[in-house]
Amino acid sequence: MTRPAFDQDHWKERLRESGLRVTGARLDVLKTLHDSPLPMTAQDVLESVAELGPTDRVTVYRTLSSLVELGIAHRVDPGDRTWRFGLLAKDHHQHAHFVCDDCGSIRCLEEALITVSMKGRTTPDRFKVKQQDVYLHGTCETCLELPAKPTSKKKKPQKR
Ligand SMILES: [Zn+2]
Ligand SMILES: [Zn+2]
Repeated sequence: MTRPAFDQDHWKERLRESGLRVTGARLDVLKTLHDSPLPMTAQDVLESVAELGPTDRVTVYRTLSSLVELGIAHRVDPGDRTWRFGLLAKDHHQHAHFVCDDCGSIRCLEEALITVSMKGRTTPDRFKVKQQDVYLHGTCETCLELPAKPTSKKKKPQKR
């Protein structure tokens, strides 16, 4: 699967629709997130954006939060208290995430739509749901291919 190239006009339009001014820094953050196959930590975004041109930490962090606030991006925390950021398609649905317990990488399972339903309703009437988080834990394909590391900490009962 190849990722489509970064369509600057599309993302400029998304910014404008959301009421954000189009700036070089915002486009750099969008391109960085777009080009990454996995959701990225703010630190990763900062480092990649720095490769594109001069930038500063505050701008990158602010840009990430406004993108999340406006629904252009989403953030997920696989449980290590570090947010990962990823872009959202315009017609996105809430989706589940896969967390690799070996390397800590996280990926969007955009096909895994979340529907939580209690007797046909999502939540009690007076609740307003902003976000649903479903995480599937396991081992990613990269870690599955690695030869088993001799770990002294935890020995899994397996012999091959
Ligand atoms: Zn992994
Ligand atoms: Zn996601």
